[in-house]
Amino acid sequence: MAKHSRKETLYQMYEQMLRHTLGREDTFRFHCTGCGACCKHREDILVTPFDLNRMAHYLGMEMGDVFRKYCIWYTGQSSKLPVVSLRMLGPEQICPFLENTRCRIHEAKPTVCALFPLGRLGSDEDYSIRYILQKVSCGTEDEVHTVQDWLVGFGLEESEIWFREWQKVIMPMAKRMRKFAEKCPEEWMEITEAHLLGTLYLNYENDRDFMEQFHGNAEIANMVLDMTEAVMSEEGMASEKP
Ligand code: SF4
Ligand code: SF4
Repeated sequence: MAKHSRKETLYQMYEQMLRHTLGREDTFRFHCTGCGACCKHREDILVTPFDLNRMAHYLGMEMGDVFRKYCIWYTGQSSKLPVVSLRMLGPEQICPFLENTRCRIHEAKPTVCALFPLGRLGSDEDYSIRYILQKVSCGTEDEVHTVQDWLVGFGLEESEIWFREWQKVIMPMAKRMRKFAEKCPEEWMEITEAHLLGTLYLNYENDRDFMEQFHGNAEIANMVLDMTEAVMSEEGMASEKP
C-alpha cells in the first residue's frame, strides 16, 4: 500500500474535519461535569482583543492591566504576528482563573474556553465561519445543544461579527509579516511585533466603543507595517504588499 506523506495525511485530516462542520442550527451532545481538568496542563488558551475586552469589563480593569497581570505573548510560528495567551501558573500549568474546579470569570471566559468542546474555523477566502465538534474524553453526552444555544449561553452570539472583522484585519497582516520575516533583520521584526501587540491588543479604553477602537487601531497597525515597508525599501530590502 502506498505510504502517504505527512502533508497528504494532514490534508486528508483537514478535509475530513471540514466535512463534519456544524452550522448554527446543528446539534451536538455534551454535558460539562465541571471537573476543571481542561484548565490545567495547558499552554494554549489564546486570548484575542475581544476576549481581553470582555475580561477587562468583568474584572473592572483596563485591558492593558489584564494583559500584564494574566497573559503572555509570543510570535505566531506561521503568522509572524503577536499571539496572546493566558499565563499558566506553576509546574502544573494551572490557569490563573481556576478556583478549586470553578472558573472565576465564567461569564467572561476566553472564547476558546467558552466554545469548548466546539472549535471555530474561519475561511481566509470569504471569511465565513464554521464550527467543529472536537473529540474530547471528558464530560458526558447527557445534554443536546444547538450551536446557536451554546453561543447565546456564553454571551457569544455577537462574537461572530468580531471574529470576521478580526480575520479581515489579521490575515492580510500575516501575509505581510511573513514577507518581512524573509528579509528583515530579527530586531526589526521584534520592534514591529511589539508595536502590533500594543496597537491591536492594548490601545483601548473601557468607556469607549470597543469595535470602533479596534478599527482605528487596525488602521494604525497597518501604518506601522507601511512604515516598516518604507524603511525596508530605503535599505534596499524590497517587499511587495500582498
Ligand atoms: S469541559 Fe471537560 S475537562 Fe473541562 S471542566 Fe468540563 S468536563 Fe471537565
Ligand atoms: S479561563 Fe476559566 S475556563 Fe478558561 S482555562 Fe481558565 S479557569 Fe478554565
